[in-house]
Amino acid sequence: MARRQIVRIDEELCNGCGLCVTPCVEGAIELVDGKAKVLNEELCDGAGFCLSVCPTGALSIEMREAPAFNEHAAAAQAKAREGEYIQQRCFRCEVGEEYAVLLPCRTQGKSLWVCTRCLPALIHG
Ligand code: SF4
Ligand SMILES: [Zn+2]
Repeated sequence: MARRQIVRIDEELCNGCGLCVTPCVEGAIELVDGKAKVLNEELCDGAGFCLSVCPTGALSIEMREAPAFNEHAAAAQAKAREGEYIQQRCFRCEVGEEYAVLLPCRTQGKSLWVCTRCLPALIHG
């Protein structure tokens, strides 16, 4: 155990949409009975990439005692889930993440992915 950053899921706020499952490369988040759950805390590195895609604000990062992040277990979990991995696409040009770097963004109540080529247009209007 170590005191470190780790995801916190507010079950009351979680609506089970599943949007947070794919951004977590480590495969730490799963849907169980319609709620997001971290079944194995060793898989969560606390980076917080899941936070920005949650439409309800159910996810946060907290500092607490938790099992240390296990890089090897996370890599194995990511590999095991390769087949079910869903490619994310830019909401503007639809380029997939295999060809572009995608960033999560929020606008008008929606959680979206945008590629770095389309980002300047969003910044400058
Ligand atoms: S994105 Fe938010 S509301 Fe959707 S499953 Fe994950 S925690 Fe729940
Ligand atoms: Zn784009």
